[in-house]
Amino acid sequence: MKIEVKRDLCIGAANCIAVAPDAFELDSENKAVLKKEWEKTAGDILLESAKSCPTQAIFVYDDENKQIFP
Ligand code: SF4
Repeated sequence: MKIEVKRDLCIGAANCIAVAPDAFELDSENKAVLKKEWEKTAGDILLESAKSCPTQAIFVYDDENKQIFP
């Protein structure tokens, strides 16, 4: 699985952090970034966090680099 946060879409709502606090954090510009240990978070939680984002800024890809969400 691969996760990408589109910085231009992120509004710092932090929903993703509420759902997956071990995977995301806000940086100094109030944009979500992946934590170093994000891969320890289960895939379904990561997908749920992507779905919780109000601006769909979190893109999820499978191991073959196929986009799963949005
Ligand atoms: S939920 Fe979306 S908009 Fe909010 S911090 Fe996470 S990526 Fe950014």
